[in-house]
Amino acid sequence: MSKRTAVITGASAGIGEATARALAEAGFEVVLGARRLDRLQKLADELSGTAHVLDVTDPESVAAFAGSIPECHVLVNNAGGARGLERVEAADEENWRWMWEVNVLGTLRVTKALLPKLVASGDGHVLTVTSIAGYGVYDGGAGYTSAKHAQSALHRTLRSEYLGEPVRVTEIVPGMVETEFSLHRFEGDEERAAGVYRGLQPLTPGDVAEVIAFAATRPSHVNLDQIVLKPRAQYDGTRAHRS
Ligand code: NAP
Repeated sequence: MSKRTAVITGASAGIGEATARALAEAGFEVVLGARRLDRLQKLADELSGTAHVLDVTDPESVAAFAGSIPECHVLVNNAGGARGLERVEAADEENWRWMWEVNVLGTLRVTKALLPKLVASGDGHVLTVTSIAGYGVYDGGAGYTSAKHAQSALHRTLRSEYLGEPVRVTEIVPGMVETEFSLHRFEGDEERAAGVYRGLQPLTPGDVAEVIAFAATRPSHVNLDQIVLKPRAQYDGTRAHRS
């Protein structure tokens, strides 16, 4: 029997990279997309998968990416991130625009482009990595939380629109995960990024990837609608216990 194909966006680092490993381990043929092709190619070679450059903020890049994928059973919408932590009164529109482009419109573009192949597979599955930021707000976070709320709403709408079609829809809702996320958010400020995780044990990318692989390997009639996972020491986006 030929392998089922899993497409993972943002697979060059963090949760996406770990997900590529977990899905390859679970027996999927993995197709990886991100902007940093050097990292992606190395991982694809290791996993006997395929790497394609992908910028989800660029419609032409998404069209070329989707066009190069012959079939798709599982799509993991993972590419995303945050920029800045300014209060609304000091919001940087460029940061907001990027967060909406990558998290919301990026998810829309890739999903829209691959839905025909997901349906044609006869057993498709869309998993979207949103965030607990899609369910709460915090000071300085409005650009990111609003984008994650919108991404979550877009994702959940699919669950209803595709009722009756052979496509499952799972939202993965992580709390704090230690990745390059905070480093990018704070423009490479390592000290500030490290402070986010200080005094508690955050989730690892592998913790999230295991959950994604679990959802993707349930029997095809089982739809895990939403999975929320947080470090034990985190209550929400504003409260965590630090020692
Ligand atoms: P990360 O280590 O910074 O990885 C982000 C990934 O997204 C990278 O592979 C990056 O690859 C890719 N990416 C960024 N912009 C892209 C673009 N325009 N086109 C294609 N790929 C792009 O962060 P992460 O924590 O793993 O984040 C993965 C997802 O989890 C994001 O959606 C994030 O919002 C969500 N999340 C993270 C946390 C957390 O605490 N870390 C918590 C909840 C949810 P390139 O730079 O090579 O393009």
